[in-house]
Amino acid sequence: MLSKKGLRVLSQRAKHILESSCPAKCMSTAPEEEKYKVRGRNVLDVMKERPLVGDGGMVIALEKRGYVTAGNWTPEAVLEYPEAVRQLHREFLRAGSDVLQSFTFYAAEGKLKSSSTGKNYTVAEINQAGCDLVKEVAAEGDALTCGGLSPTPSYGQGKGKQAVQDEFRKQVEIYMEHDLDFMLAEFFATIEETEWAIEVMKASGKPCGATMRIGPTSDKSDVDSGECAVRMAAAGADLVGVNCSFGPVTSLKTIEKMKTSLDAAGLEPFLVMQPVAFHTGDCEHNKDGYHEVPEFPLALESRSITRWDARKYARAAYDLGVRYIGGCCGFEPYHIREIAEEVHTLLYFLRNFIIVHYCCVFYNTA
Ligand SMILES: [Zn+2]
Repeated sequence: MLSKKGLRVLSQRAKHILESSCPAKCMSTAPEEEKYKVRGRNVLDVMKERPLVGDGGMVIALEKRGYVTAGNWTPEAVLEYPEAVRQLHREFLRAGSDVLQSFTFYAAEGKLKSSSTGKNYTVAEINQAGCDLVKEVAAEGDALTCGGLSPTPSYGQGKGKQAVQDEFRKQVEIYMEHDLDFMLAEFFATIEETEWAIEVMKASGKPCGATMRIGPTSDKSDVDSGECAVRMAAAGADLVGVNCSFGPVTSLKTIEKMKTSLDAAGLEPFLVMQPVAFHTGDCEHNKDGYHEVPEFPLALESRSITRWDARKYARAAYDLGVRYIGGCCGFEPYHIREIAEEVHTLLYFLRNFIIVHYCCVFYNTA
């Protein structure tokens, strides 16, 4: 049974969703199939109404299928095997993803040049092909499109802010040309490089977010995880959170810590989570999470989470206030299907709770 306080919180959530989805604030909302549409809408407006379901890990899934080289993890497949990329986007879409991310991970200039695949594709070729594919598949259903920025070797080599941001800018320009719905800096291990990425995305005027691959302790430069969240939000990220390196259980701890710090700082970005689909309890305090376990990257199967684990993660994330719930490496379409079903179950419950709640209010005051 819910306590009185629990009922009050639930009723406030329900009322907020109702008011957000119905401008007239009446019970006759849009037809069911229209009510939760995301396509063509601002990602931030959608998240005020309902949680978004992200997609899963493109790079690991495509490596398993023979289209990506382990170790490099670069996305030449958008040019060489577009049908494979198209099909994986499509599987995430059919499984229930509200957002499809372009397969442009590690597609900045320095990383492409350092790849040992022996390919000489340009930044423009790779990123344009990634944008074309994601837009094509998103248009087959109801999904937003997202372009990503990832860490650059130039940062580690100490080339400085100007050089690193120039690399980010080249990708962002292509995302703008293709009018992707928003951008997400992801897989960053140090807050400084993350802030540089946010600055570049923010200048575009599009909604943007940032996720770091950090655990509950700190980033690689020993900045506390909660402080990292505050700095991401202060730099202008509309969405703040974590991705990769750690599994759902560990990442929930990190998000909880981030939320506490953000609340203390009076900052309210949307929270986003895209953990790996592996159990990482034994490496929770590693700086590199699952990248440091002996099974990485080709013997991780015994660590895989189940569909039930994915479902529990989705509910726990929602309860923590996360409004963008997706996955990174190891999250296959069947995991995303569980997240989507849990989110839709939640929305169904809230919708019906609204009806019951308002009927009761009407009955008691009539
Ligand atoms: Zn990952």
